[in-house]
Amino acid sequence: MIPKSHPRYESLLLRDKIVKASKEGYLAESAMIAHGRGEAFDYLIGERTTYPAKRAMYVAVAAMLLSNNPVISVNGNATALACDEIIELAKSVNAKIEINLFYRTDDRVKIITQLYKDHGYNKILGSLDDDIEYLNEIKNSRSSASKTGIYSADTILIPLEDGDRAEILKKSGKNIITIDLNPLSRTSKMSDVSIMDNIVRAIPFMTKIAEDLKTQDKEILMQLVNEFDNEENLKESLAQIRVKE
Ligand code: ATP
Repeated sequence: MIPKSHPRYESLLLRDKIVKASKEGYLAESAMIAHGRGEAFDYLIGERTTYPAKRAMYVAVAAMLLSNNPVISVNGNATALACDEIIELAKSVNAKIEINLFYRTDDRVKIITQLYKDHGYNKILGSLDDDIEYLNEIKNSRSSASKTGIYSADTILIPLEDGDRAEILKKSGKNIITIDLNPLSRTSKMSDVSIMDNIVRAIPFMTKIAEDLKTQDKEILMQLVNEFDNEENLKESLAQIRVKE
C-alpha cells in the first residue's frame, strides 16, 4: 500500500495499475516503457492539465458530438489506467469502444473484452467474434478494424497510440484525435486534434465538457472545430514544458 501522504502518490498509483495489468497478461511487453515515456513528459508539465490541452479537449468533444460514428479505440495501457472513465465518456458522447492492439494476440483481446464486461460494458468491438476488415486493404494486424467500428468510423479517439497505427488510420481519411503526453510523438503530429495530457485526467474532463457541449447549438460546436489549429496548439503545448530547479 502506498501512503496517501507520499509525494509521488498519484504517479505511483498509476504505476501499480500498469504492473497489475501486466501480471494479468493483457499488456504488450513494451507497455511499461510506453508508460515511462508518458510519465517523464507528465513530470515536465507539472502533472497538471494545461490550457492548450483544455482547448484541444473542447475541440475533440465537439468533433465527437458532431460525428455520425465516433469510436474510442482502446489498448492495454488505456484500459489499465481508465477503463471506467472510458466507458463513461463513450456513453456521454454516444461513441463505440473498440479494442485495437498494436501487438494483437487472442489472449490479450479475450482478457480486455472480459474486463470491459466486468465493468458493465458488453458491446465492445474488436473482440474475437467481431467482423474484422482491413483499412486501405493492407492485410496485416496493424490495419485491422471492426466493420461497424473503426472501419466505418468518421472520428476516432486514439489515446496512447503508436505512430505506425496512427498513420494507417490517418491515411484512411478519418478524423483523428489523440491523448498523448508527448507533443513530439508522430501520433501527436499526425492527429487532427492532439491532447497533451495524462489519460487519467483527460478522459473525465472530456466527459464533463460533453455534458456542457451537448446543450449547445451545432453551429457553436462547428465553430470550435473549424477555428482550431492543431499545429499551433501543439507548439503552445510544447511551451508548457518548463524545467524549473
Ligand atoms: P510515436 O510512435 O507516436 O512517435 P511512441 O513511439 O512514443 O510514439 P508508443 O510508445 O507506442 O509510441 O506510444 C505511447 C505514447 O503514449 C507515448 O508517446 C507516451 O508519451 C504516451 N503515454 C504513455 N502513458 C500515457 C498516459 N498515461 N497518458 C497520456 N499519454 C501517455
